[in-house]
Amino acid sequence: MKTILNIIYNLFIFIFLTIITQIGGIIYLISLVVVKKLKCKKWIVFFSFYFVCSLFIIPLIAPIFGREKVMHSDKIKPTNYLTVLLNRNYVNPQLNELLNKTGKELTGTSIEIHYLDANFPFINKFPLLPHLSHNDGKKIDISFIYETKQGIIINQGKSISGYGVFEKPKANEYNQINNCLKKGYFQYDYPKYLTLGKIHHELLFSQKGTKILIKKFLKHKELGKLFIEPHLKTRMNLHNKKVRYQGCRAVRHDDHIHIQLR
Ligand SMILES: [Zn+2]
Repeated sequence: MKTILNIIYNLFIFIFLTIITQIGGIIYLISLVVVKKLKCKKWIVFFSFYFVCSLFIIPLIAPIFGREKVMHSDKIKPTNYLTVLLNRNYVNPQLNELLNKTGKELTGTSIEIHYLDANFPFINKFPLLPHLSHNDGKKIDISFIYETKQGIIINQGKSISGYGVFEKPKANEYNQINNCLKKGYFQYDYPKYLTLGKIHHELLFSQKGTKILIKKFLKHKELGKLFIEPHLKTRMNLHNKKVRYQGCRAVRHDDHIHIQLR
């Protein structure tokens, strides 16, 4: 009985780590073998092995699979470094180039690109949950731009994860969220559980800053689609055909922008 429970426990950890980090599950299994032979603490072995792989080995192997880490610069940073530690920061070279070009065009402004979930390092069609479509190196989520009450742009978000704090429709704006929820798409609202804690309550959504960022992305022909909630598309007066609605089967996009290559 104890053995069965142990197998179920290890299977659960394997699945969880695979869903969260892609490589974590396999590293966990290897750690179990190593621990048996060396008789040392399992989690010390796992974390040591995991960090060495994530920081030094995976970035070298990922290009064989057509992926690379999002390149950081003065203008390009992760919203939360957990994205990097969990290997959720891989894109194909073309998307890196698009980010890089857009970042350079923001020179002279106070706007920075703060990215959220991108893709895992390996295997097309391996989804990066909860984003079903982030499975080919061509997609990445980008944080909104926020400002102070005085209108000064601050490159910080309103939640620790970067997801789940919504810029909701105003009373006079079209409410697509209620529309989806009424139709029974209960998952539409789920990012509210993914904040990992709300921060910077004083910050306001920067309509101007976010619009500048979106317009910079839209200039590039490599950009295929950009998803944002309809009320924000209207509020920012965006008419480009690449600005689309993701549909009720996805989750609401009034906490971040999703961009993808053609
Ligand atoms: Zn996305």
